[in-house]
Order: sequence, then structure tokens, then C-alpha cells
Amino acid sequence: EESIVGSPYKRVAVKISGNMLFKFDGTAREIEDDDTLINLLAQLKTCQQQGVELLLICGGGNICRGGQMIKTGMRQITADNIGMLATVVNSLVVREKLTKMGVCCEMTSAFSITHMCKQFEPFSAMRSMHEGNVVICAGGTGNPFVTTDTATALRAIQTDCDAMIKLTDVDGLYDKDPQAFADAKLLKSVSYDECLDHQFSVLDLDAFSHCKHHSVPIHVASFKEADVLLRIVNGGSVGTKVSTSGEAA
Ligand code: UDP
Repeated sequence: EESIVGSPYKRVAVKISGNMLFKFDGTAREIEDDDTLINLLAQLKTCQQQGVELLLICGGGNICRGGQMIKTGMRQITADNIGMLATVVNSLVVREKLTKMGVCCEMTSAFSITHMCKQFEPFSAMRSMHEGNVVICAGGTGNPFVTTDTATALRAIQTDCDAMIKLTDVDGLYDKDPQAFADAKLLKSVSYDECLDHQFSVLDLDAFSHCKHHSVPIHVASFKEADVLLRIVNGGSVGTKVSTSGEAA
């Protein structure tokens, strides 16, 4: 049984990285077979049943990333717009799946796509969460030159979340590159300043600094860990927690 290290959270912003999602090939099969996604959405359902209010921000990296596309000479504003549309695709998939699972949800977008969903507005998002909906935030921040990490930090702050949780394909933050060093140690707890000093690449630095200024704790953990979301929301220790006070990195 895991030790409870923090207090349970009442409202959280959860970011799912595109790299944990299906590879999009235009059929719906790859989505149906995506066990990782189904498992995560089932955890969201349990959290919701426990009364936790949830914001869900989808990345787009399974479809495209602005940073990759600019290598061919595409202008970044165009590449980033395509990236933001990729997050809309993932959000539509997630809304479809949650609805089929009987999870009340509402999809919003950072920019206007009125025939698909409402535009994000923090007060209506909070009301919607309070009414029991998982609020899905598509389109990142709506602006180029940033990522959905920053979108998650901003949405968490705007809606008064207790924490932001980034679920990705790494276990958390390490004291050195785990690919290069066999003795790299996973850090359970670090401070915002340590993150900014070390320029950890697992989360973008804009997201760190927004969370620092508003004292929103950040959790980074692997979606491969069993019950990762449930454990974090209930105060368990999994992955890395970034907050005002960390143990020395
Ligand atoms: N993006 C953007 N502004 C935002 C959020 C995302 O321009 O506010 C673009 C950016 O090109 C990014 C892509 O959308 O590479 C996909 O988002 P992200 O890289 O955050 O997805 P993830 O890697 O988490 O799946």
C-alpha cells in the first residue's frame, strides 16, 4: 500500500501528451484499440465519481508537432496552427470516448470553432466542472510559440486548480539524463527554481514559471504507471512533484 504524502486534490488540470495516444492513420480502428487511452479515461471516470473536478488538456504530438514541421522550412506560425488543430482532433476523440463511457463532459476550444464546441472561458468552465463535467480544453492556448504544457498551466491557474498533472512517457524528472547515465536518480520532489535552473526539458519552462508565480504544484508522471492519475489525485507519491519546496536536486 502506497504512503499518502500529500493531501487529496479537489480540482486538477490533467494534460495528456500526444505521445501516449494512438498514431492517427485516418481509420477509427487505431482509436478503438488504444488501451492506454481507454485506461486513462477510466481513471478520469473514477476521479469524477470521487467528486474531483477535472480539466483535460490534450496534446497533439501523436499527429504533429510544430517544432518538427519547421525543419522543412514551414513558418512556425503555420506549423503551430496545424499543431493546435491536432489537439482539436484529439479532443474530439476524447469527447467521443468519454461520452460513450457515460462520463459527462464538455469540450471547449481556445479559439472559435462554434459548430464543434464552445470557446473556453474560465468561469463557465468552472461552473461546468462544478456541475460534474470533465471539461476538455482543445486548441492549446490558441497562440503559437508555446505548447500544451503552457496551456495546461494557464488553464489550471485560470480555473483555480489545486495542481496540474502531466502524464507522459517518462517517469518524471531525473537529476541527470537517464538515457546517458545508468545511475540517474528519479527526483520525487523538486522546487520550481531547481527546475528553472536545470532547464529540465520534460516540461516547457513557460509552464514552470506560470505555476511558480501562482504556486500551482506540477506532477510529472508516466501514463504507464498503474492507476497513475488516481494515485496522484489521492495524494500518493508517483513520478515527480514540483512545488515551492523540493528536496535538493
Ligand atoms: N501548439 C501551439 N500553441 C499552443 C499549444 C500547442 O502552437 O498553445 C502547437 C505546437 O506546434 C505544438 C503542437 O501544437 O508542438 C502540439 O502540442 P504539444 O507539442 O504540446 O503536444 P504534445 O507534445 O504534448 O502531444
